[in-house]
Amino acid sequence: MTAAALRIGLTGGIGSGKSTAAARLQALGAHLVDTDAIARELTLPGGAALPALRECFGDACLAADGSLDRAWMRAHAFAEPAHRAALEAVLHPLIGTEAERRAAEAPAGATRVFDVPLLVESGRWRARVDRVLVIDCPAERQLERVLRRAGWTREAALRVIAQQAPREIRRAAADAVIDNRDDDPAALAAAVDALWHHWVAAR
Ligand code: ADP
Repeated sequence: MTAAALRIGLTGGIGSGKSTAAARLQALGAHLVDTDAIARELTLPGGAALPALRECFGDACLAADGSLDRAWMRAHAFAEPAHRAALEAVLHPLIGTEAERRAAEAPAGATRVFDVPLLVESGRWRARVDRVLVIDCPAERQLERVLRRAGWTREAALRVIAQQAPREIRRAAADAVIDNRDDDPAALAAAVDALWHHWVAAR
């Protein structure tokens, strides 16, 4: 019997470099499951989450094209914890089911990497993965990186950072932490490669 394929949960605060690390893991041969992409697809026109969201929040939560109105949802979910909980109660089980469906498409034995921005916050993921990898950097560096992206204001970036788990909590939940404070893509790639060797290649 060969060992079951390894399941890695990858997380990090916004702007930490998580997506960059995910791309590197994919290049190394991981089967990547992007839960952010799943969440987006579930809320596009015709998306599986829309009927339940409409029932919860009414037609006001839908944009003209029938997708979830993200700006409306952000304003409501961030303003009111009960709304956020209702949103998560709809989305998280659907994301979990779709993530498993995508993971099952991987070739037998391939390492599955679940890219989960709110892995630590949601609490559901720890038991579903064998290892948790955290990409870590100071909040000032997160902010700098997010502000380089189009469409972000300082206030919006700070609000998201404040809504996410603090660094220490995320780090405490990790089996491994990659320090990505330096703006040095080669160093991040090397750290991901070393981790892959340790957890996967030399297994
Ligand atoms: P996240 O997915 O955690 O929000 P990204 O991987 O998208 O973060 O990284 C945020 C931005 O910072 C991207 O533009 C990315 O290219 C850049 N970045 C991340 N890590 C590094 C690094 N080590 N060196 C240089 N730029 C980096």
